[in-house]
Amino acid sequence: MSRTKVLVLGGNFAGLTAALAVHHELHGDVDVRVVSASDKFLFNPSLIWLPFGKRSPADITFPLAPTFESHGVDFEHAEATALDLDGRKVTTPAGVYDYDYLVIATGYRNNFAVVPGLGPGGNAYTITTLEDAIKAGEGWRRFLQAPGDIVVGATQGAGCFGAAYEYLFNISHQLRKAGLKRQVKLTWVSSEPFLGHFGIGGLPHGEALLSMFLKKEHITPVLNTAMDHVDEGRLVLADGKAVDFAYAMIVPPFAGQEVIAAATEIADAKGYVKVRDTYQTLTRDEVYAVGIAVAVDAPWQTPTPVGVPKTGFPAERMAHVAARNIAAQIRGERPVSQKAFGDIPAVCVMDAGNNGVIMLADKMLPPRKHGVLIPGPQAHAMKLAFEKYFLWKARHGYVGLP
Ligand SMILES: Cc1cc2nc3c(=O)[nH]c(=O)nc-3n(C[C@H](O)[C@H](O)[C@H](O)COP(=O)(O)OP(=O)(O)OC[C@H]3O[C@@H](n4cnc5c(N)ncnc54)[C@H](O)[C@@H]3O)c2cc1C
Repeated sequence: MSRTKVLVLGGNFAGLTAALAVHHELHGDVDVRVVSASDKFLFNPSLIWLPFGKRSPADITFPLAPTFESHGVDFEHAEATALDLDGRKVTTPAGVYDYDYLVIATGYRNNFAVVPGLGPGGNAYTITTLEDAIKAGEGWRRFLQAPGDIVVGATQGAGCFGAAYEYLFNISHQLRKAGLKRQVKLTWVSSEPFLGHFGIGGLPHGEALLSMFLKKEHITPVLNTAMDHVDEGRLVLADGKAVDFAYAMIVPPFAGQEVIAAATEIADAKGYVKVRDTYQTLTRDEVYAVGIAVAVDAPWQTPTPVGVPKTGFPAERMAHVAARNIAAQIRGERPVSQKAFGDIPAVCVMDAGNNGVIMLADKMLPPRKHGVLIPGPQAHAMKLAFEKYFLWKARHGYVGLP
């Protein structure tokens, strides 16, 4: 009898974890194949350092094929272009792959359309993909030759606030190192209703802490604002006010991949997959989604829309839940492992160049029992150590480690 086939789309935080975890859960008695548009793992959290030359692309990536091969998982470097849910098949330029269980871990793409003037060839940089961060670094080096004012921000609907804050504080640190701190006006423009909302509703004392950080760094905040468009050297806000800049980095909202959006049975309007707490899709017991690819509704409404950050820790947790459930189904058991996104603990470090904040909470989304922010230089050291540890863990496929 042929072995059960598990097909995983995407090979980053969620896909790598899901593929290796399901293989381990079943002690290798399963055919697992990963199909990923990228042949490399990317440690996205370090993209904040790449523009300043503190990291190179090679420092924060590794090739996926050797990792999967060493664990007996097939790897195909190809982009899924169509899902046939009834026929249980996925089309790619490299071939058509059938499956008994499908895991969608295709992550995010930038939605630049929300603010004209953003995006490739536009008037502001972003750092949310490797290519974008490389371009932001080229722009940074040009900026150092002809400095002026700087805008860092997150648009309406953006969710990746942590990275935008990190870039803001890293820029402030870099300006000081370059002797430019006094002459450059640094402005933070955000859709958040208050400082330190982070798209997770804020944490106790977060607003006061972030206010203190911004004051200390002489950063001017412009909050609760939508952006209208970006001209060359000028960000125009929805209320018509403008902020001029010589360098701008603006984080856009994310959306799911187009191939997922086209599968309207399982995807919402943004191309994210609607799932149960088991990470099975609402309509198909054999189709799972994990990581950023999952649709998450914010439990609040803000005057200016903000998105929810789907960070690395929950991406891994979702992948483990899905892997346990797929293994249970293959063994003929019920898929009973559950953990709603909002109930997964929040574990994050916000880097500030030579300083930072450790963020811990019992749940990603409120209501919460505990939440704490611990500022200090140990946060920066922790982020450096975590990067090394995580890349070592992922490269070796040790997904069972914390
Ligand atoms: C700048 C930045 C900083 C961040 N900092 C932090 C941080 O400090 N801490 C933290 O916890 N999180 C952080 N995050 C969030 C973290 O990166 C995400 O949680 C994580 O990347 C989610 O992993 P994922 O596997 O779900 O999606 P992704 O990382 O987006 O991976 C998706 C994978 O799917 C592949 N793919 C896409 N389309 C297809 C297709 N059609 N067919 C096949 N494969 C496809 C892609 O090539 C990729 O390999 C940060 C994110 C960014 C952008």
